[in-house]
Amino acid sequence: MHENIAIMGGTFDPVHYGHLMAAEFAQCEFDLNKVILMLSARPPHKNGESVLNNEHRLEMLKLAAADSKIFEVSTLELDRPGYSYTIDTIRCFQDHYPEKTIYFIMGSDALFSFHTWKKAEQLSTMCRFIVVTRPGYKLEKNHSQYANLPAELWENINFLEVPGFDFSSTDIRNRVRQGKPIKYLVPPEVEQYIKQHGLYKGLEAKDA
Ligand code: ATP
Ligand code: MG
Repeated sequence: MHENIAIMGGTFDPVHYGHLMAAEFAQCEFDLNKVILMLSARPPHKNGESVLNNEHRLEMLKLAAADSKIFEVSTLELDRPGYSYTIDTIRCFQDHYPEKTIYFIMGSDALFSFHTWKKAEQLSTMCRFIVVTRPGYKLEKNHSQYANLPAELWENINFLEVPGFDFSSTDIRNRVRQGKPIKYLVPPEVEQYIKQHGLYKGLEAKDA
Protein backbone atom coordinates (compact mmCIF):
# COMPACT_ATOMS: atom_id res chain seq x y z
CA MET A 1 0.00 0.00 0.00
CA HIS A 2 1.26 3.48 -0.83
CA GLU A 3 2.48 5.45 2.17
CA ASN A 4 2.44 9.15 2.88
CA ILE A 5 4.78 10.55 5.47
CA ALA A 6 5.02 14.09 6.70
CA ILE A 7 7.74 16.04 8.38
CA MET A 8 6.99 18.99 10.59
CA GLY A 9 10.10 20.98 11.39
CA GLY A 10 10.40 23.34 14.29
CA THR A 11 12.44 24.68 17.14
CA PHE A 12 9.75 23.44 19.51
CA ASP A 13 11.02 25.72 22.27
CA PRO A 14 8.75 24.41 23.77
CA VAL A 15 6.32 22.26 21.78
CA HIS A 16 2.71 23.42 22.28
CA TYR A 17 -0.84 22.49 21.27
CA GLY A 18 -0.66 24.73 18.17
CA HIS A 19 2.02 22.43 16.75
CA LEU A 20 0.30 19.24 17.81
CA MET A 21 -3.10 20.22 16.52
CA ALA A 22 -1.70 21.26 13.15
CA ALA A 23 0.08 17.92 12.85
CA GLU A 24 -2.99 15.98 13.92
CA PHE A 25 -5.33 17.75 11.50
CA ALA A 26 -2.88 17.32 8.64
CA GLN A 27 -2.57 13.62 9.41
CA CYS A 28 -6.30 13.17 9.10
CA GLU A 29 -6.86 15.35 6.01
CA PHE A 30 -3.97 13.98 3.99
CA ASP A 31 -4.13 10.40 5.11
CA LEU A 32 -0.63 10.51 6.49
CA ASN A 33 0.83 7.28 7.84
CA LYS A 34 3.03 9.21 10.20
CA VAL A 35 4.07 12.71 11.10
CA ILE A 36 7.70 13.14 12.00
CA LEU A 37 8.33 15.97 14.41
CA MET A 38 11.75 17.18 13.36
CA LEU A 39 13.64 19.15 15.95
CA SER A 40 15.84 21.85 14.39
CA ALA A 41 19.29 22.09 15.86
CA ARG A 42 20.23 25.60 14.88
CA PRO A 43 17.51 27.17 12.81
CA PRO A 44 19.26 29.60 10.43
CA HIS A 45 16.49 32.20 10.75
CA LYS A 46 16.86 32.25 14.52
CA ASN A 47 20.51 33.12 14.32
CA GLY A 48 21.58 35.26 17.24
CA GLU A 49 18.66 34.30 19.45
CA SER A 50 19.27 31.87 22.23
CA VAL A 51 17.41 28.61 21.93
CA LEU A 52 17.01 26.24 24.83
CA ASN A 53 19.47 23.36 24.73
CA ASN A 54 18.67 20.39 22.51
CA GLU A 55 18.22 17.89 25.32
CA HIS A 56 15.40 19.78 27.02
CA ARG A 57 13.59 20.57 23.76
CA LEU A 58 13.92 16.96 22.66
CA GLU A 59 12.69 15.59 25.96
CA MET A 60 9.60 17.82 25.85
CA LEU A 61 8.89 16.84 22.25
CA LYS A 62 9.13 13.16 23.18
CA LEU A 63 6.75 13.67 26.11
CA ALA A 64 4.28 15.44 23.81
CA ALA A 65 4.43 12.69 21.20
CA ALA A 66 4.45 9.77 23.61
CA ASP A 67 0.79 8.79 23.51
CA SER A 68 0.32 9.23 19.75
CA LYS A 69 0.51 6.33 17.32
CA ILE A 70 1.21 8.64 14.39
CA PHE A 71 3.74 11.11 15.79
CA GLU A 72 7.40 10.25 15.74
CA VAL A 73 10.25 12.39 16.97
CA SER A 74 13.39 12.59 14.88
CA THR A 75 16.85 13.75 15.87
CA LEU A 76 18.14 13.72 12.29
CA GLU A 77 18.79 17.48 12.30
CA LEU A 78 20.34 17.39 15.76
CA ASP A 79 22.71 14.67 14.67
CA ARG A 80 23.83 16.63 11.62
CA PRO A 81 26.53 19.22 12.29
CA GLY A 82 25.81 22.88 11.58
CA TYR A 83 22.60 24.66 10.73
CA SER A 84 19.42 22.74 10.06
CA TYR A 85 18.29 23.16 6.48
CA THR A 86 15.00 21.68 5.35
CA ILE A 87 16.31 20.77 1.92
CA ASP A 88 18.96 18.49 3.46
CA THR A 89 16.32 16.78 5.56
CA ILE A 90 13.94 16.26 2.65
CA ARG A 91 16.76 14.88 0.52
CA CYS A 92 17.63 12.42 3.24
CA PHE A 93 14.02 11.19 3.44
CA GLN A 94 13.82 10.90 -0.33
CA ASP A 95 16.90 8.70 -0.31
CA HIS A 96 15.55 6.50 2.45
CA TYR A 97 11.96 6.28 1.26
CA PRO A 98 11.96 6.67 -2.52
CA GLU A 99 8.58 4.94 -2.77
CA LYS A 100 6.76 7.19 -0.31
CA THR A 101 5.12 10.56 -0.81
CA ILE A 102 6.78 13.09 1.41
CA TYR A 103 4.96 16.11 2.81
CA PHE A 104 6.35 19.02 4.75
CA ILE A 105 3.98 20.69 7.22
CA MET A 106 4.42 24.34 8.13
CA GLY A 107 2.43 27.20 9.55
CA SER A 108 1.39 30.06 7.29
CA ASP A 109 3.99 32.32 8.92
CA ALA A 110 6.72 30.14 7.44
CA LEU A 111 5.40 30.84 3.95
CA PHE A 112 6.38 34.48 4.30
CA SER A 113 10.04 33.59 4.73
CA PHE A 114 10.17 30.50 2.53
CA HIS A 115 12.05 32.34 -0.23
CA THR A 116 14.97 32.81 2.20
CA TRP A 117 15.32 29.09 2.89
CA LYS A 118 18.33 27.27 1.43
CA LYS A 119 17.78 26.48 -2.26
CA ALA A 120 14.11 27.41 -1.95
CA GLU A 121 13.43 26.90 -5.65
CA GLN A 122 14.79 23.38 -5.69
CA LEU A 123 13.14 22.53 -2.40
CA SER A 124 9.77 23.62 -3.84
CA THR A 125 9.88 20.75 -6.28
CA MET A 126 11.11 18.05 -3.92
CA CYS A 127 8.06 17.31 -1.79
CA ARG A 128 4.50 18.37 -1.15
CA PHE A 129 3.78 21.16 1.32
CA ILE A 130 0.91 21.47 3.76
CA VAL A 131 0.48 25.03 4.93
CA VAL A 132 -1.75 25.37 7.98
CA THR A 133 -3.44 28.61 8.93
CA ARG A 134 -1.95 30.57 11.79
CA PRO A 135 -3.63 33.64 13.23
CA GLY A 136 -1.81 36.83 12.37
CA TYR A 137 -0.53 35.33 9.12
CA LYS A 138 -3.54 35.49 6.92
CA LEU A 139 -3.24 33.72 3.61
CA GLU A 140 -4.40 35.76 0.65
CA LYS A 141 -5.99 34.01 -2.27
CA ASN A 142 -4.12 36.36 -4.55
CA HIS A 143 -0.73 34.82 -5.25
CA SER A 144 0.79 38.15 -6.19
CA GLN A 145 0.99 38.78 -2.43
CA TYR A 146 3.80 36.28 -2.39
CA ALA A 147 5.84 37.52 -5.28
CA ASN A 148 9.01 36.31 -3.60
CA LEU A 149 7.97 32.67 -3.50
CA PRO A 150 9.33 30.28 -6.12
CA ALA A 151 6.70 29.73 -8.82
CA GLU A 152 7.18 25.96 -8.53
CA LEU A 153 5.92 25.99 -4.97
CA TRP A 154 2.33 26.62 -6.09
CA GLU A 155 2.29 23.27 -7.86
CA ASN A 156 3.08 21.44 -4.64
CA ILE A 157 1.20 23.31 -1.99
CA ASN A 158 -1.96 22.38 -0.09
CA PHE A 159 -3.59 24.77 2.33
CA LEU A 160 -5.27 23.47 5.43
CA GLU A 161 -7.58 25.48 7.65
CA VAL A 162 -7.14 24.58 11.30
CA PRO A 163 -8.81 26.21 14.31
CA GLY A 164 -6.43 29.11 14.86
CA PHE A 165 -4.38 28.94 18.03
CA ASP A 166 -3.11 32.44 18.45
CA PHE A 167 -0.05 31.66 20.48
CA SER A 168 3.55 30.71 19.96
CA SER A 169 6.46 29.20 21.86
CA THR A 170 7.64 32.78 22.37
CA ASP A 171 4.38 33.59 24.18
CA ILE A 172 4.79 30.50 26.33
CA ARG A 173 8.36 31.37 27.26
CA ASN A 174 7.24 34.87 28.17
CA ARG A 175 4.37 33.59 30.29
CA VAL A 176 6.68 31.27 32.23
CA ARG A 177 9.12 34.10 32.77
CA GLN A 178 6.30 36.24 34.14
CA GLY A 179 5.08 33.45 36.41
CA LYS A 180 1.82 33.07 34.45
CA PRO A 181 0.14 29.69 33.86
CA ILE A 182 0.65 27.76 30.65
CA LYS A 183 -1.92 25.11 31.41
CA TYR A 184 -4.04 24.28 28.31
CA LEU A 185 -1.31 25.67 26.05
CA VAL A 186 1.03 22.71 26.32
CA PRO A 187 0.47 19.06 27.24
CA PRO A 188 0.48 18.51 31.03
CA GLU A 189 3.69 16.47 30.81
CA VAL A 190 5.45 19.38 29.11
CA GLU A 191 4.09 21.85 31.66
CA GLN A 192 5.38 19.59 34.42
CA TYR A 193 8.79 19.22 32.75
CA ILE A 194 9.19 23.00 32.44
CA LYS A 195 8.33 23.42 36.11
CA GLN A 196 10.56 20.60 37.27
CA HIS A 197 13.60 21.91 35.43
CA GLY A 198 12.92 25.58 36.05
CA LEU A 199 13.06 26.32 32.32
CA TYR A 200 12.53 29.73 30.70
CA LYS A 201 13.13 31.68 33.84
CA GLY A 202 16.33 33.45 32.98
CA LEU A 203 16.22 34.05 29.26
CA GLU A 204 15.64 37.45 27.70
CA ALA A 205 12.46 38.05 25.72
CA LYS A 206 12.73 37.00 22.09
CA ASP A 207 10.78 37.86 19.01
CA ALA A 208 8.55 35.25 17.34
P1 ATP B 1 8.66 30.66 18.24
O1 ATP B 1 7.75 31.67 18.87
O2 ATP B 1 9.84 30.28 19.10
O3 ATP B 1 9.03 30.99 16.81
P2 ATP B 1 6.60 28.87 17.28
O4 ATP B 1 5.38 28.75 18.13
O5 ATP B 1 6.51 29.73 16.05
O6 ATP B 1 7.81 29.30 18.19
P3 ATP B 1 8.19 26.98 15.86
O7 ATP B 1 8.95 25.88 16.50
O8 ATP B 1 8.92 28.19 15.38
O9 ATP B 1 7.04 27.42 16.91
O10 ATP B 1 7.29 26.45 14.67
C1 ATP B 1 7.35 25.17 14.12
C2 ATP B 1 6.28 25.05 13.04
O11 ATP B 1 4.99 25.09 13.64
C3 ATP B 1 6.29 26.21 12.03
O12 ATP B 1 5.99 25.71 10.74
C4 ATP B 1 5.18 27.13 12.53
O13 ATP B 1 4.62 27.88 11.47
C5 ATP B 1 4.19 26.11 13.07
N1 ATP B 1 3.35 26.66 14.15
C6 ATP B 1 3.76 27.15 15.33
N2 ATP B 1 2.74 27.57 16.09
C7 ATP B 1 1.62 27.36 15.38
C8 ATP B 1 0.23 27.61 15.62
N3 ATP B 1 -0.20 28.19 16.75
N4 ATP B 1 -0.66 27.24 14.64
C9 ATP B 1 -0.20 26.68 13.49
N5 ATP B 1 1.09 26.42 13.20
C10 ATP B 1 2.00 26.76 14.13
MG1 MG C 1 8.24 30.27 14.95
